[in-house]
Amino acid sequence: MFENLADRLGGVFDRLTRQGALTEADVQTAMREVRTALLEADVSLPVAREFTRAIERKATGQQVTKSVTPGQQVVKIVHDELVRVLGGETDPGPLKIDNPPAPILMVGLQGGGKTTTTAKLARRLKEREGKKVLMASLDTNRPAAMEQLAILGQQIGVDTLPIVPGEDPVAIARRAKTQASLGGYDVYMLDTAGRLHIDEVLIQQAADVRDVVKPRETLLVVDGLTGQVAVEVAKEFDDKIGVSGVVLTRMDGDGRGGAALSMRSVTGKPIRFVGLGEKLDALETFDPERIAGRILG
Ligand code: GDP
Repeated sequence: MFENLADRLGGVFDRLTRQGALTEADVQTAMREVRTALLEADVSLPVAREFTRAIERKATGQQVTKSVTPGQQVVKIVHDELVRVLGGETDPGPLKIDNPPAPILMVGLQGGGKTTTTAKLARRLKEREGKKVLMASLDTNRPAAMEQLAILGQQIGVDTLPIVPGEDPVAIARRAKTQASLGGYDVYMLDTAGRLHIDEVLIQQAADVRDVVKPRETLLVVDGLTGQVAVEVAKEFDDKIGVSGVVLTRMDGDGRGGAALSMRSVTGKPIRFVGLGEKLDALETFDPERIAGRILG
């Protein structure tokens, strides 16, 4: 995750920290390189621009250029700005699932990793928080997707709602809610149908389910490799059905990572988790401090 960006920024800051004294021109040159590196990582232009402007403002002050270790100080400013843009100043707190049975609605496009992430998160809630979790697939168009969730459930020892052929998504959601109450579950997760594009049917279905279960969390699962497209998808889902958080998948690849940097500024929504592989334990909480540290090496 972020290897390319980390390499690029590492180079810029190596040069900067080797210099004894810094001029405003040095900082400006470095920030041009930083901006290019961010754009290459597929960070959106306004975010990249605001990012480097904020750093320039802070770094060209007297204090930095006269500091004993000006380069180090610029790196510190960049670190703090990274944490800010990643959402570090406003901690969303834990998932709101304390009042059982708490519904979690999982939404996203087909192929983004929604079903896998549903199982990963269920596993995490079970193993780390001792929650009793029920999962239900609402993807009535794709019986294979419903089967897939049932198989994943078996692998992680998490119950899935039995499949009743011919039932519509809202009816499944109602049954999951009843089952979760009767069965003493802490959380029930609804894996909604994915489609290749955001269309009316998809949105209407998710909205109908939302209105029936009133989810405590609505998590959008989106492929982190798609960069700015992921951010656009998140914006659209949020406008149309409202999301409370984002999960970025495929962050294990050599993806450019721009989605992680643009998401919060553009959508206002926190990234909650990142997917780091196909295995069911490959899900990490998104911690802006740790990610900023990773980017800067
Ligand atoms: P859905 O259509 O959104 O439900 O997508 P799936 O959950 O079926 O995932 C599609 C493919 O992406 C599967 O082969 C998953 O194993 C894979 N996948 C999901 N999350 C990740 C991830 O974080 N990293 C990697 N490398 N693959 C993932």
